[in-house]
Amino acid sequence: MDTFLLKNINTPGSADISVYKKSGGYKSLKKALKMKPEDIIDEVKRAGLRGRGGAGFPTGMKWDFASRDKNFPKYLLCNADEGEPGTFKDRPILEKDPHLLIEGMAISAHALQAEQGYIYLRAEYPAAKKILEDAIDQAYEDGILGEGIMGSKTNFDLAVHRGAGAYICGEETALIESIEGKRGQPRLKPPFPVNVGAWGKPTIVNNVETLSNLPLIIEIGADAYSKIGNPDCPGPKLYSVSGFVNKPGVYELPMGTSLKDIIYDHCGGIKNGGNLKAVIPGGISTPILPPDKIDCQMDFVSLPKCGSMLGSGAVMVFDESVCLVKVAARAMYFFEHESCGKCTPCREGTGWLRNILERIENGLGRRGDVELILEVASNISGKTFCPLGDGAAGMVLSFIKHFSDEFDEHIENKKCSVN
Ligand code: SF4
Repeated sequence: MDTFLLKNINTPGSADISVYKKSGGYKSLKKALKMKPEDIIDEVKRAGLRGRGGAGFPTGMKWDFASRDKNFPKYLLCNADEGEPGTFKDRPILEKDPHLLIEGMAISAHALQAEQGYIYLRAEYPAAKKILEDAIDQAYEDGILGEGIMGSKTNFDLAVHRGAGAYICGEETALIESIEGKRGQPRLKPPFPVNVGAWGKPTIVNNVETLSNLPLIIEIGADAYSKIGNPDCPGPKLYSVSGFVNKPGVYELPMGTSLKDIIYDHCGGIKNGGNLKAVIPGGISTPILPPDKIDCQMDFVSLPKCGSMLGSGAVMVFDESVCLVKVAARAMYFFEHESCGKCTPCREGTGWLRNILERIENGLGRRGDVELILEVASNISGKTFCPLGDGAAGMVLSFIKHFSDEFDEHIENKKCSVN
């Protein structure tokens, strides 16, 4: 497949507006500015674009809800807070092709009649901040941002807002709290941000990759776009692959490419000729899968049928040298550390689970610990304020579902037999 999202990243000077324009950049925005906002929303709906941040919500539907609200001003927020372990798919766009994102945001702003946008950038991407701000300055100088963009009647201002390093601010309502200058904690929904978001106004929060798909949809049209990848959730998809593969990295492939093809064809197979032991397909909060599930297609529809989720498309590959009890303990440490503390099951439960997992890892596990993990996790699942708690519980439950022998062995032998 021809790449679109990553097509410019290896071009020298790719972050410069002149290089971007030479490759056809901003032609889609010019075309979109001649379209009625409702026609763009209809095109996005027909294209079947689903949000690439993790939830996979239909983008056109979200836009439709926001456009029906006649309360102004409206805000467009780009979620560039990719902080989940294993997820680094948006980084090439932010650092190498910032004008692709700016063009996608300007198209979205015209469709949504939002005159102010912010890119909420994760704190740990300091290089991207400067690159994005330089690109935004260039876009203002070129009349692509500001009043009457590209000679149209559409106004759009854009700025970068750097986060303070909290994973929870990738959750859209916590992101909104943060951008308003408050402590980053999720809000109760409803009301949803499309109606009551930033500063109480209709607000659309879309991921970097989602917004970067807009120029392609406008360029080739919904019919052609919907033919890329799985017809149930079409389009190009960025997969970030890490761990025990020969060629880790970010890959742009049609949505629905199988996990097996990603690992063995695109990433060159398991490192040092090793054997695959397990794979997390969509970031640390998605359930782990054993090797017999890797024929599964990597999309929002197929992975739940195989017992996991697409999440952000962050594929983490483990070979047989890896202790999965250790992986689960480290992952739970992450969730405990990043829990915002608003609700008890997540705030307390992640700490208890980390504690039990670490004692099993260290050879101090007790009979009954696996059952205790199941009980604590089941008291988190479905009982927390936001998806972080569910992600933590689902992660550990999947480890025990597929690899309970490894937990039992640690407890019986009082040590790890893997390393
Ligand atoms: Fe905060 Fe965790 Fe509750 Fe989410 S589930 S609101 S992160 S305490």
